[in-house]
Amino acid sequence: MNKDKKVIVVGAGVAGLASAVRLQKEGYQVEIYEKESLPGGKMHTIEKDGFRFDLGPTIVMMPELYREVFEFAGKDPDDYIPMKRLDPMYRSYFNQGSEHIDISSDLVQLMKTFETIDPKDAAGFLKYLASIYERYSVARDYFIQRPFRHKKDFYNPFMITQALKLKTFDSATSSIAKFVNDEKIRQMLSFQTLYIGVSPNNGPSLYTIIPMIELLYGIWYIDGGMHKMAEGMASVFEELGGKIHYDAPVEQVLIEDGTARGIQVAGQEQTSDYVVVNADFPYAMKHLIQDKTAKGKYTDEKIDSMKYSCSCFILYLGMDRKYDELEQVHTFVFSENLDQNLDQVFSGEFIEDPSIYVVAASKVDPTVAPEGKEGLFVLVPVSDLETAQYDWHDEATLNYYRKKALDSLSNLPGMSNVENEIISESVITPLDFQEKFNAYNGACFGLQPTLLQSNHFRPQAKAEACEALYFTGSSTHPGAGVPIVLMSGKIAAEELMLDDRS
Ligand SMILES: Cc1cc2nc3c(=O)[nH]c(=O)nc-3n(C[C@H](O)[C@H](O)[C@H](O)COP(=O)(O)OP(=O)(O)OC[C@H]3O[C@@H](n4cnc5c(N)ncnc54)[C@H](O)[C@@H]3O)c2cc1C
Repeated sequence: MNKDKKVIVVGAGVAGLASAVRLQKEGYQVEIYEKESLPGGKMHTIEKDGFRFDLGPTIVMMPELYREVFEFAGKDPDDYIPMKRLDPMYRSYFNQGSEHIDISSDLVQLMKTFETIDPKDAAGFLKYLASIYERYSVARDYFIQRPFRHKKDFYNPFMITQALKLKTFDSATSSIAKFVNDEKIRQMLSFQTLYIGVSPNNGPSLYTIIPMIELLYGIWYIDGGMHKMAEGMASVFEELGGKIHYDAPVEQVLIEDGTARGIQVAGQEQTSDYVVVNADFPYAMKHLIQDKTAKGKYTDEKIDSMKYSCSCFILYLGMDRKYDELEQVHTFVFSENLDQNLDQVFSGEFIEDPSIYVVAASKVDPTVAPEGKEGLFVLVPVSDLETAQYDWHDEATLNYYRKKALDSLSNLPGMSNVENEIISESVITPLDFQEKFNAYNGACFGLQPTLLQSNHFRPQAKAEACEALYFTGSSTHPGAGVPIVLMSGKIAAEELMLDDRS
């Protein structure tokens, strides 16, 4: 292995940074080309009028995977991403803000909460935890942390036995319903599949591992906000000698005789021994890989026919005061009719009564808002651009969802005057996800993790039909979410080194 070989990484998103840090540490000469002026991709930050918000991800799960990147590089994670655990993890509101339940990651406390709702459901909850924990162990040990480079990596008796243990054929909603009767508890144990852009009513039930991971291992907050993770990885990468070119949109991956030879950026060719593409896989296959053979099965028609995750409309509101009644950093306000809400997100109709997700990081972090003020991140899950039957270029669409979000917020205790208390406002729509980060169809979480787009069916790190070319990020295996794309970055780096060694 020639460790002085050059690697170009396209994109400084979480996965691109994670693979770049690992490869640079292993002795490769790594250069990242990023179209934006900041690292992090969807883990961007928005600063305005003294308020600072995380643009996308806000919930830290599996902090050990965040820390691992720094440890791998020989650094102390606490120097870059000091974290605190949040408990209760979040508050859920129902019935237009008239009822709420706090969800603790302390199982003793959580059992008390569920016992007050229904002792039978408390018992059902324990059975659910035991059942999903077993499936999670199988997924963790045999599926999430490894690539599926060849068909035989999946189609062999051992792996098929493990796949059957995942019991993933029913939906999250129906899987939870086997254990729990109360509708609110069911909703609170299944809506988290939306974190990866798939409906709990249709997505594989295995993704109820997400609430299980929250409940068993907790959620954290990074002081200064999630963007510190991106900044930290970028700093470590540069400290190791890596180079990041910002404001450098890559135009294509150069391919000769079935092998990636570098990239074209600003009309210039930059050569390298290997190329790792972190830009969203479907966008990259369609626009950056122009060599038809190198696309393999991922023709433009195939890319268009694949299923995409949902998107998000987000308001970043600087408020003129603090809201004591908003007690938690994370608040979920459930739609009165969650089934209809989910149907409309995934069918593309206008959403009549959306659920919203509110983050008030200023509750625990004085650095993100001026003294005496609150910053509110208000997220509405909406359809991806291809599915949506409405047009985000149309101001009426934006006004419609803004009003829905503020109406829902104003139902919460102490927030009836919320619209008049806004002193700073920014907004992001699915169009921004498409235009800023090249997220295909504006889908926030990449390819939807349906059964037929998961594990060995999902695009893999090593390009199928081109040498020296690797992919990493949420549309590739193992999927979306910061901890999962951190694993994707690790897999891509390891796949590259495996080839380099041979
Ligand atoms: C609103 C929202 C909320 C979320 N909440 C959470 C959460 O709470 N917890 C969690 O764990 N996960 C969350 N996620 C998911 C998580 O943020 C993503 O899965 C993860 O950040 C994706 O990282 P990535 O590296 O795959 O992609 P990206 O962030 O998309 O990175 C790709 C990078 O490539 C760059 N790029 C694209 N095209 C080019 C080009 N031609 N040339 C150069 N550069 C290019 C982009 O600018 C970008 O920087 C959330 C996502 C969103 C959108």
